[in-house]
Amino acid sequence: MITSAAFTDKRYAVLGLARSGAATVEALLASGARVTAWDSDADARGRFASRCELADPVEIDLTGFDGVVVSPGVPLNTHPIARHAEKHSVPVIGDIELFALARPDLPPHKVVGVTGTNGKSTCVAIVHHILHMAAFSTLLGGNIGEPVLAAEPLEPNDKGAGIYVLELSSFQIDLTRSLACEVAALTNITPDHLDRYDGFEDYAFAKGRLFTMQGVGQVAVFGSREGAAGALYEAAQQRRPEACVIAAQPDTLAELQSEWPNLQGPHNLQNVAVAVAIAEGLGVTQAQWRHALQRFAGLPHRMEIVCETDGVTFVNDSKATNAASSAPALAAFPRNAAINDGAPRVHWIVGGQAKEDGLAECAAHLDEIAAAYTVGEAGPRFAELLEGRIAEVEPCETISEAVNRARTAARSGEVVLLSPACASYDQFDNYARRGEHFRKLVGVVSDCDDCSPGAYGGDRAA
Ligand code: ADP
Repeated sequence: MITSAAFTDKRYAVLGLARSGAATVEALLASGARVTAWDSDADARGRFASRCELADPVEIDLTGFDGVVVSPGVPLNTHPIARHAEKHSVPVIGDIELFALARPDLPPHKVVGVTGTNGKSTCVAIVHHILHMAAFSTLLGGNIGEPVLAAEPLEPNDKGAGIYVLELSSFQIDLTRSLACEVAALTNITPDHLDRYDGFEDYAFAKGRLFTMQGVGQVAVFGSREGAAGALYEAAQQRRPEACVIAAQPDTLAELQSEWPNLQGPHNLQNVAVAVAIAEGLGVTQAQWRHALQRFAGLPHRMEIVCETDGVTFVNDSKATNAASSAPALAAFPRNAAINDGAPRVHWIVGGQAKEDGLAECAAHLDEIAAAYTVGEAGPRFAELLEGRIAEVEPCETISEAVNRARTAARSGEVVLLSPACASYDQFDNYARRGEHFRKLVGVVSDCDDCSPGAYGGDRAA
C-alpha cells in the first residue's frame, strides 16, 4: 500500500467506500491520518466502524479538515458536497491527488497519465505491456485495475525508476490538483459525459488540466491535432513548445498493424501511436515495442473476438458506449472482394441507453453493415435513423433476440459485432455485464440462464 508522511496527523473525510474509497481509507489510516468515512450503503461503511468516525461529510462541520476525498462517480456538478466543502474552504479531491501528494515519499519513479474520450484503457494497457516486456519496473492503475493507493510502491531496477502508468478519466482529473506527470497523453476528445459538464468545452477543459499540471521538462503527447484535441495541443504548445509531441500519424504505423492480432481497427492505430510515443519518451527502443505489440493480448469487451462458428466471427465491443467508439469498430471489418463477393459483412448489434442523439460518427461506415439489430431504450430511435440507409434493420428488444437473429442471418466470412454506441444501464449494471452476457450467448451455451430477465438489472426491454 502507498503511505506518506504527508498525511500524518491530517484529517480527511472520505465519501464513497467502494474499491478506491476503501483503499484510500486504508492508506490514510496507515499513514497516521484521522478519517471520517461515509457511504450510503450501511455494509460498506460498517466495515470501517471500528477505525473511523462514520458521518456523512455533507452533514458535518468540515472546519479543520485537510480534504474531502470523493469517488470519481460522485457528480460534482450536482452533488451538495462541492458547495459544502467550498463553504469550509476544504479541497474536494480524489485518490489520484493523494497519490500525487504521496510522491515525495516514494522511491524514484515516473508517472505516465493518459486521458481521452476513447482509447484510454487500451492505450495504458499497451504502454504497460511494452514497459513490462522491456523489463522496466512498472504498474498499471488509476481508472483500470487495482486502486493506485492499494499498490505496493514500485522499486527502481536496472532500467531505472519505476513507472506508474495511470489511466485518468476527466472525473479523476477534476479531483486532482497537483499531479505533474513526467509524460501526459491525450488519445482524442469527442462529446461524452455531457451530463457532468457545462457543455463540450468544459469537458475538454477538464481533460486539458492534465497538461496544465505539468512542469518543466515533462512531456505532453497528443493523439490528434484535430478539433478539441488540437485546441489542447495548441494551448500546450504555447506554454511549453519544447515539450509537446504529436503521436506518429497512424498511417505511418499502418503497415505494421498486421503484426498485432489484438489491435485491429483504425482506432487501435491511434492508440498504438500514442502508446509508442509515450514508450519511446521513456527510453523504449523500436525493436522492443515491435516485439511487445505482437504479443499484446487485448482487453476484454474491446473488440474482443469471442469465438468463430461456421466461419462467422463474434466480436464483443461492449465498451463502445458512444458513437465515436463504435465507428472504428464498424470500420475494422471492411468489405472484401474475396468474401461473399464484396458484400457488407457486419451484423451490428446496437443500442442501449443513448448518451447522445443519433449515431453521427458512424455514418461514414454504414456501407459496411449487412444488417443492424437495434436493442434497448435507444433501439426504436436507432431503427428509425438507420432505416433506408442500410440493407436490413431488425428492431429487437434484447441482446439475446439480436444474437439469435444475427446468428441465423450471418454467412461464413461475416461478423456479428456487439458495439452498442450506448451506455448499458437500461438493461445491465454496466458494460462488462453486457459483454459477459453477449459472450455467454454466443459461446458454447445456446441460452444464458443468469442473463435471463431480472438478472443483473435484467436483459429486459426498456
Ligand atoms: P476508454 O478507457 O477511454 O473508455 P477503451 O480503450 O476502454 O477506452 O475503449 C473503449 C471503446 O472505445 C471500445 O469500444 C474501443 O473499441 C473504442 N476505442 C478504443 N480506442 C479508440 C480510439 N482511439 N478512438 C475511438 N474509439 C476507440
